Amino acid sequence: MKQTPIDEIYHFKCTSCGDCCSGHMEININIYDLYKISRKSNFSSTGELFERRLVKLVQVQNNCWTPQIIFKKLPLEFCPWLINDMGDNDILKGFCSLHPTTKPLICRMAPAGRVVDFHNHQISYVLTPPTENCHGMKSTQENRLSLLERDIHDELELEYRFYRILENLKKVKIPEDVMLKKFYIFNTDSPFEQILAEREKMPFNLML
Ligand code: SF4
Ligand code: SF4
Repeated sequence: MKQTPIDEIYHFKCTSCGDCCSGHMEININIYDLYKISRKSNFSSTGELFERRLVKLVQVQNNCWTPQIIFKKLPLEFCPWLINDMGDNDILKGFCSLHPTTKPLICRMAPAGRVVDFHNHQISYVLTPPTENCHGMKSTQENRLSLLERDIHDELELEYRFYRILENLKKVKIPEDVMLKKFYIFNTDSPFEQILAEREKMPFNLML
């Protein structure tokens, strides 16, 4: 999908067609998404998301393991958190049951995507159409990147720290099962700040 840099203004308004929540989509989420979705689901551990086959780990660039939503396969492929319902004018719509605050950050930011370049110490944003035919991209509604950043500032910070841990893990190739058990599965009754701070201090070379 074509990506163009965003400086400040971009045009977009979601029509809730649900297309980007169904079909063959790969939605990678972050460790705070695991925490907030588990808590909303009343799971005492993020492990339930994996046991219930809602989320799995996938290997991304630099050999790092990251969580990805498992789409249901039957009768069609769709996100387990997608709800289809009739909208205005009796048109079938697709709604996110995690909207707005429990929604994964990547979904909440779409179509703005953040690119973190640790090597050059740069953060940039690109406009990425959620699907090839996303009607929202044809809207003339103006959106401001600075307002989006302000609204989700805290989550952007948490995700940045998560990315920085993964960046450090590049040097230590950790097997999937170890990442799952020692990094991504945790109890959800502690404050997330504590959970993340523990992971920032983890001696990953000793995990192997
Ligand atoms: S494809 Fe575009 S318009 Fe449809 S739900 Fe996704 S973002 Fe909204
Ligand atoms: S989490 Fe919500 S917005 Fe993201 S793919 Fe699933 S239903 Fe769509």
